[in-house]
Amino acid sequence: MSKRSILVCMLLAMAPLPGFASRKPATFSVLAFYSANVEHDHVEFAEQSLRFFSEMAKRDSFQFASTTNWNDLNSTRLEHVDVVLWLNDSPHTDEQRTAFERYMERGGGWLGFHAAGYNDSDTHWPWFVKFLGGTVFYGNSWPPLPATLSVDDKASSVTRRLPPIFKSPANEWYSWLPSPRASKDVRVLLTLDASNYPLGFKDTLTSGDIPVVWTNTTYRMIHMNMGHGDKIFTDAHQNDLFEDALRWLGVRR
Ligand code: ZN
Repeated sequence: MSKRSILVCMLLAMAPLPGFASRKPATFSVLAFYSANVEHDHVEFAEQSLRFFSEMAKRDSFQFASTTNWNDLNSTRLEHVDVVLWLNDSPHTDEQRTAFERYMERGGGWLGFHAAGYNDSDTHWPWFVKFLGGTVFYGNSWPPLPATLSVDDKASSVTRRLPPIFKSPANEWYSWLPSPRASKDVRVLLTLDASNYPLGFKDTLTSGDIPVVWTNTTYRMIHMNMGHGDKIFTDAHQNDLFEDALRWLGVRR
């Protein structure tokens, strides 16, 4: 056999068989909601999130789409969506909120970052407070600063790649009242380590139990406090956390 024939045979052996798609089938479907007209640092986080999760979607072969139209939060659009992301905002109309409640009550998945979990006396959405674990926004640190986080639940597949403590990049940190840990349904995954206190200069968190990542086990959901500014995706450990959280929600248990 000539060298040329050998080369042709090798190339044929490497080529995909006819009829076989070269891409793996999508494992799950994600739809990210965000707003472009909110606080600049929150928009910046949303834009970086879209790049981060789009790249992950290519590697992991899941479907990823995004929208700034919160009216897409309706039963028709969500029918084939496995995980909804809220990157920097939450729904404001009764129709959008009701569609989301139905979606979650029927086993939908949710990953909400930072301002997406914000709620106070003006929010007027009791279902959402209960969904978060009965907790309400109480305070924040300012300016954005890195913080040491400790892993509460090392057995979770969401935290399995994390060291027991790590430094999370600059973020605005929220505190909650009561602590989500007070709910019997909540499983806290990560907490602001006590060594951070006092955290902040203009607004300061001085003490207390401040979970930063948790799940309400009644639902398929995770809330994360990260989501302010352009530093969030600069830490490899934290990026592993984001990826593993989305995989955990996307691959239905
Ligand atoms: Zn913020």
